Amino acid sequence: ELQEFDVVVVGSGGAGFSAAIEAKEAGKSVVIIEKMPAVGGNTLISGAEMNVPNNWVQKKLGIKGDSPEKMAEDTIKGGDKLGDPHMIEVMTKNALPAAEWLKDDIKVEFLDDQLFQFGGHSYKRALIPKGHTGQEVITKFRAKADELKIPIKLNTTATELIQDDNKKVTGVKATNKKDQTISYMAKDGVVLTTGGFGSNVEMRKKYNKKMDESYMSTVTEGSTGDGIVMAEKIGADLTNMDSIQTYPICNPKTGVISLLADTRFDGAILVNQEGKRFVEELERRDVISNAILEQTGGYTYQLWNDKINDISGTMEVHEAEYNELLKQKMIVKADTLEEAAKFFDIDVKNLEETVKKVNQYAKEGKDKDFNHRGKLVSLDKGPYYIEKAVPSVHHTMGGLVINDKTEVLDKDGKAIDGLYAAGELTGVIHGSNRLGGNAITDIIVFGRIAGQEVAK
Ligand code: ADP
Repeated sequence: ELQEFDVVVVGSGGAGFSAAIEAKEAGKSVVIIEKMPAVGGNTLISGAEMNVPNNWVQKKLGIKGDSPEKMAEDTIKGGDKLGDPHMIEVMTKNALPAAEWLKDDIKVEFLDDQLFQFGGHSYKRALIPKGHTGQEVITKFRAKADELKIPIKLNTTATELIQDDNKKVTGVKATNKKDQTISYMAKDGVVLTTGGFGSNVEMRKKYNKKMDESYMSTVTEGSTGDGIVMAEKIGADLTNMDSIQTYPICNPKTGVISLLADTRFDGAILVNQEGKRFVEELERRDVISNAILEQTGGYTYQLWNDKINDISGTMEVHEAEYNELLKQKMIVKADTLEEAAKFFDIDVKNLEETVKKVNQYAKEGKDKDFNHRGKLVSLDKGPYYIEKAVPSVHHTMGGLVINDKTEVLDKDGKAIDGLYAAGELTGVIHGSNRLGGNAITDIIVFGRIAGQEVAK
């Protein structure tokens, strides 16, 4: 079977929807194909916070001095200078228009009085969607796609790119649930937005031996690197493939990311089995993850109290996760530190000593041990919460090389005609390590550019 469109978008995460909507609004006929039974990819299950310098919430909260240049600096440094400075500049300069587009055109609701400052960022600059998850973003994207009558083919897996005699990409072959092969032909071009390869253990090991089956992952089953493999087959260049990020605070039973533990961004501390802090809680994800793996048992405990949660509000929005963790005995709530520590057999004396110091640092406004870049909060009053956590594979920084028009480049740096890519399957932005809140900025900015460029 053969179906014809102007534009074929492969994958229905944030990058795919952004591209499809832009192309459709530019007057093109567009189809989205998605291999899973539902839309959304990892965008759906993520916290979906989005770093945007000079955003409207910063203005409201009186946060001054941020700029695209400062976010670019943080991003370059956070990725050990392995990201492409020009592409990073494109991302940070287009962050605000992208966020305004989400808010005004897609009708995504963001909290209007709260921001996150993720590890490695010099400002509180991450907008938080309603409910603190990607559900809000994907629900609104889906509604917009329906309104624009963009067909979405679920349970349909793209398997190979189709090229004409001049090597122009003219479509993709896909297989549906009934094992039928369908050729989705694209007059203007194919946009690959298939996400990363975090759930493909073989592919992880191929590029980074350390990232083997001993790690669980936070990502959906669909993240198997299909777009990267398909493009590589027709000559696309790959970069930073060994850069695979673990998220430090995940469920030790399932590998699922803990969004409940976002109290960390508002003062929760990390301690080891011995009851001692061992890393700055707002360090980069790779630094925290590596530090955790060096502790007894290879895990950490995150400690906070009601006062911290009053600031972050995460226990209310992630109540379902809290209840799940209680059931799994991966979190404890107790009135005293002693009681909480005993539940996990943490050294009580040390923990009390650690907390005493943190209380002192909170009062003085300076963390003399780890130089916490946010605000430490006094843990003098309970009730206390202690959550057990391990690092789990979260984001694959590497992938396809694209230019600022999102054209996919071959090994000679030449654009492959008819092929565009945006989102986690590209490898040029985050270098060795993606900073929190930078994925959504990346996928929306470049997803939109892909949709606009393929429609030209
Ligand atoms: P991004 O953040 O870059 O948008 P996501 O992980 O959110 O990435 O979304 C990628 C989507 O692409 C997922 O929904 C995934 O199931 C889908 N996908 C992955 N491989 C294929 C494929 N071969 N064919 C169709 N869809 C795919």
